Amino acid sequence: MTTIATQLRAVTAQIASAATQAGRSPESVLLLAVSKTFPASAVREAALAGQRHFGENYIQEGVEKIAALSAMADLPRLTWHCIGPIQSNKTRLVAEHFDWVHTIDRLKIAQRLSEQRPAHLPALQVCIQVNADGGDTKSGCTPAEAPALAQAIAQLPRLQLRGVMSIPDPQPDAAAMLAVHQQVVAVFHQLQQLPGLAALDTISLGMTADLASAIAAGSTMVRVGSGIFGARS
Ligand SMILES: *Cc1c(COP(=O)(O)O)cnc(C)c1O
Repeated sequence: MTTIATQLRAVTAQIASAATQAGRSPESVLLLAVSKTFPASAVREAALAGQRHFGENYIQEGVEKIAALSAMADLPRLTWHCIGPIQSNKTRLVAEHFDWVHTIDRLKIAQRLSEQRPAHLPALQVCIQVNADGGDTKSGCTPAEAPALAQAIAQLPRLQLRGVMSIPDPQPDAAAMLAVHQQVVAVFHQLQQLPGLAALDTISLGMTADLASAIAAGSTMVRVGSGIFGARS
């Protein structure tokens, strides 16, 4: 097995163990492989090992990799998630090439994505990014802003709202980390109670370092980069 295949197995086992410990089924947590800064050949290795969902942060880099991987006729279709910040002038590229967007934190970006989503593609699957720990250098709406944003996004014809995403800062100890993860999950449950939003099903939470805690709190999708592909330079 290649290193990437071995690491994928190890991360999958870690997810299963965290889920089981939390009394959840391992299948209730989807693994998103974050391939930012790694070449198309690394994504190919992961795809050959069975991985299907990939996350990219930088739009241009992601679009190039999506094109390279779709041209490999021996691979099944992969699902691409945009997990990086999106400026207005990049929404068209995102709408035309990605399947999911996790980083919507204002209505203007959502409106542009909906307008620019090509008619021949399914609706763009989206999550609202929530800044749960109040870190002021990060993007994300506040928990208080999330309900109004969710209800506005739910009206957009070419987007399908799936849930929330968050990138909490590291915390001094495990209890503090779990508390932040639980805050994100609480925002998700609050949105689920709103009219028309009962079908929300996605909590995109947890990375290489904090995935077990995120899963204990209720994450349904963990975004793992270095744990699969190695350290980024
Ligand atoms: C880079 C990144 C990840 C993966 O981080 P690792 O620590 O390498 O697992 C997950 N989510 C987002 C939004 C990222 O930018």
